Amino acid sequence: MNANRLRQFISKRVVEEGSCRLWVGQTSATGHPAMMLPGIRRKVMVRRQIHATLIGPIPGGHVVVTTCGCRTCVKTEHLKAVPLAEARRLAAERGEYFNRAVQIKRTLTQRARSHITEEMVQAVREAPTAKQAHERTGISLGHCYAIRTGARRKPLDSPFGALFSPTVPRRA
Ligand SMILES: [Zn+2]
Repeated sequence: MNANRLRQFISKRVVEEGSCRLWVGQTSATGHPAMMLPGIRRKVMVRRQIHATLIGPIPGGHVVVTTCGCRTCVKTEHLKAVPLAEARRLAAERGEYFNRAVQIKRTLTQRARSHITEEMVQAVREAPTAKQAHERTGISLGHCYAIRTGARRKPLDSPFGALFSPTVPRRA
C-alpha cells in the first residue's frame, strides 16, 4: 500500500484525542491496532505499516512503540522503532506485560468464552471450501476464511500452550 492510500485508509479508522490519534479499527489478539491488507488476507500491525511506509524501514529485531505510551495511538509523530528489549522495558514501566505466555493465556480465555468450539474450528478447517464450512457450521463466511487462512484461531504452537488449557488440542 502506498503512502497516500495508507493515509486514506487510516484516516477512516481513527479519532483524534488530545495530541494522539487513536485507532478504532480492528485489533490484534493483544489489543494493538491491526488491519487486513488487500491481497494478503492476514492481519498486519498498523504501526509497523505506518513506520515502514511513512517514516522508514524498521531495523531487524526492532518493534514499533508509541512515545506517548498509548496502546492504540497511531500518530506518525508518536511512533518509534526500538529494540525488543527496550520495548519490553517500556511496557514493564507502564505495568503491562510483554510476554508470550500471558498472550496465550488471554487467547485461551477468549476462546473459552467464544461460542465457536474447537470442534467447530476443526470442521471449518476440514471442509473442502470456506463456503461449505460456513454452511456446515453456521459460522460467518468471513470468519470461516479467517480460520482457514490462520488469521483466526491460530494453532498454539508455543511450548507453554498446553500449560493453561489441556482441553485445547495441539495440532500434530
Ligand atoms: Zn500518541
